[in-house]
Amino acid sequence: MFKKILIANRGEIALRIIRTCREMGIKTVAVYSTADKDSLHVKFADEAVCIGPPPSKDSYLNIPNIIAACEITNADAIHPGYGFLSENSKFSRICQKHNIKFIGATPEQIDAMGDKSNAKDTMLKAEVPCVPGSAGLLADAEQAKGIAIEIGYPVIIKATAGGGGRGMRIVWKEEELAGHYESASKEAEAAFGNGAMYMEKYIEEPRHIEIQIAGDQYGKVCHLSERDCSIQRRHQKLMEETPSPFMTPELRERMGEAAIKAGLAVAYEGVGTVEFLVDKYRNFYFMEMNTRIQVEHPITEEVIDYDLIREQILIAAGVPISGKNYYPQLHAIECRINAEDPFNGFRPSPGRITTLHTPGGHGVRIDSHIYAGYTIPPNYDSMIAKVITMAQTREEAIMKMSRALGEFVVEGVKTTIPFHLRLMKDEKFLKGDYTTKFMESFDLKE
Ligand code: ADP
Repeated sequence: MFKKILIANRGEIALRIIRTCREMGIKTVAVYSTADKDSLHVKFADEAVCIGPPPSKDSYLNIPNIIAACEITNADAIHPGYGFLSENSKFSRICQKHNIKFIGATPEQIDAMGDKSNAKDTMLKAEVPCVPGSAGLLADAEQAKGIAIEIGYPVIIKATAGGGGRGMRIVWKEEELAGHYESASKEAEAAFGNGAMYMEKYIEEPRHIEIQIAGDQYGKVCHLSERDCSIQRRHQKLMEETPSPFMTPELRERMGEAAIKAGLAVAYEGVGTVEFLVDKYRNFYFMEMNTRIQVEHPITEEVIDYDLIREQILIAAGVPISGKNYYPQLHAIECRINAEDPFNGFRPSPGRITTLHTPGGHGVRIDSHIYAGYTIPPNYDSMIAKVITMAQTREEAIMKMSRALGEFVVEGVKTTIPFHLRLMKDEKFLKGDYTTKFMESFDLKE
């Protein structure tokens, strides 16, 4: 087993990883930018190393400094968390070269899955159903037009390197295609350094349902059921729940099997997520695979009583998995609390938290790195807490969430708590009747 793990991340996920390491008797090293010197992950880790100034490219994405931090502290493994370097095959390869275990996918697995257009090719070969679309990357807008005629409008053009909903445009008619193609490609070039695009049929009013998988170093892959992440704003997840209100035992079997096929196709090692779009007829289509731990992993942990970070560490250390699939025993919901103003177009609201009271009680879990007096830096993403509730039934989990959000006091910055409070009372949401279009007709002031 590893003696010391360096956590190449910040915020709640860095704390989350430190907690599991402590339970496993593994020492931890935090890395931080100067903007994060007063962060809890720095205080809670056994050791901490400053790796650069606030911009991510100079700190949390600064590979030489992270490797150096690992070497001076004698850490034998790196946990990348999510975002930053978690799906960077170059980084995974550099770790290998330095004899540092990367707690995540191998460079080959990341290359096969991290590039979304490549991933679709791999999935088609493995007979996992995919959204109809371009075979590989698009050369230009003209070629895109030809393919759009074949598959029929609406279509969605997507950046192969995309993430977080960026570099993506829905196109309803041919006149709009060239303009959208250029702007999406430019956006992807600026955000990911790669403007290459591919195209898919735009599935109208789908659900986003993903399957958690785990694979070991010996070729075994299992699934841990689904998460419904259809409540999104601009393709970004706001709330997740498991089981999905749309799920049937039969659909879960079929999707679970497809996700396992996806994992087996790349001999997947570690925990990962296979994302699908599901249409109203319960046809499902592979969208992408994330070769890392996800923000919403706690809801799976709570309904199957399974520590996914511990599992990542065990798999990386060469421990075999049992190979059996896991099914939800409870219902869990996660609300992502962001420092944003939901009454003002979800505009970011960084700043100092003056007063803080976090909820507690039966069936409530808070994953967060904030404290009273903490200043949220403007340099990173705006999520400040995840509130997770679990109960025997969906109704109870929702009641608990309403109760917990009602207790949550954050003063000094604006947060999305009022949005989630309103969501928990929404008639359609209460019926479980929602798709990725939900937010388009949602009125916060109602
Ligand atoms: P990202 O990696 O940026 O999150 P994804 O490929 O996961 O991008 O897509 C994010 C969201 O965009 C999906 O959850 C879904 O709401 C929407 N989306 C993506 N592809 C399609 C499609 N072919 N049809 C309809 N909606 C789509």
